Amino acid sequence: MGFQKTEKIWMDGALVNWDDAKVHVLSHSLHYGSGVFEGIRCYETDRGPAIFRLREHVDRLFKSARVFDMKIGFQREEICQACADLIRTNGMRSGYIRPIAFFGYGMLGVNPGTNPVNLTIAAWPWGKYLGSGPIKVKVSRFIRIHPRTTVANAKVCGHYVNSILANMEAKEADYHEALLLDYNGYVAEGPGENFFIVKDGLVRTPPLGAILPGITRASIIQLATDLGYEVEEAPLTLQDVVSADEAFFTGTAAEVTAIQQMDEFVLGGGKIGPVTARIQQEFFDVVQGRNRRYDEWLWFVEAPRPKSDRAATPES
Ligand code: PMP
Repeated sequence: MGFQKTEKIWMDGALVNWDDAKVHVLSHSLHYGSGVFEGIRCYETDRGPAIFRLREHVDRLFKSARVFDMKIGFQREEICQACADLIRTNGMRSGYIRPIAFFGYGMLGVNPGTNPVNLTIAAWPWGKYLGSGPIKVKVSRFIRIHPRTTVANAKVCGHYVNSILANMEAKEADYHEALLLDYNGYVAEGPGENFFIVKDGLVRTPPLGAILPGITRASIIQLATDLGYEVEEAPLTLQDVVSADEAFFTGTAAEVTAIQQMDEFVLGGGKIGPVTARIQQEFFDVVQGRNRRYDEWLWFVEAPRPKSDRAATPES
């Protein structure tokens, strides 16, 4: 991925030039994957740039940090403001925001111990992650990380080895993306996406447990329910997928991406299905500020913040 560089990156409270945003090679998290991170999208709306579910992403960052008892030295509200300020500073209308908290330079050894905790936030323009779809997915020979191997529902850097391997395998076989099963053989998720199927009008998605609790997933469950669809969170077998009418991925990067094929099986006639299309349209209407019913999900970058928003939130 070639970066479309922006002017500034936020590092531990200071704005530095993009090319100067560097860390020491002996940073703990570089060696052991002990960082935690977020991926957030900012959309252009008729009321200026709006960051989608910013608070929920920052909350998840703090939840992930708890895995390592990592103390992030900033309040949630400060981090939200920093993300919004960065979009403004960089003159962006839309794009991707990547906060990462990591153990920095101090000492090596598996236990992060007393290493300093650094927090950086970068933002840059980023288009569609999986193209416009529909896409082809390959069931991976790697299973999704076992919930007893690690705290699987945290967004921890090291977990992405599993995602990288599955994605590389799929790409090598000329698929757009992988689909990983869990340790019981049920469908889990993609390397960076949650998974849904539609069968006879019923929307189904794997339950929380062996997957990342996606913020897009939660949003889609709500939107689909509000549109009048029944949504079921229950284990899915590969047979369920093969016999589904429609399938799609959700994620901050992937947004709502229709899936037209799993391994050799063509799904939904090889094109985006009506339910997926309806949900996808609703999602874009919401994130692009056209559906005001979900305005509370949007953080308008140019809007003055109400006083209550600036109150410090106690950190975990
Ligand atoms: N699963 C995995 C493994 C992911 O990395 C992501 C991306 N954060 C998702 C699902 C989707 O989560 P979200 O909708 O919060 O981006």
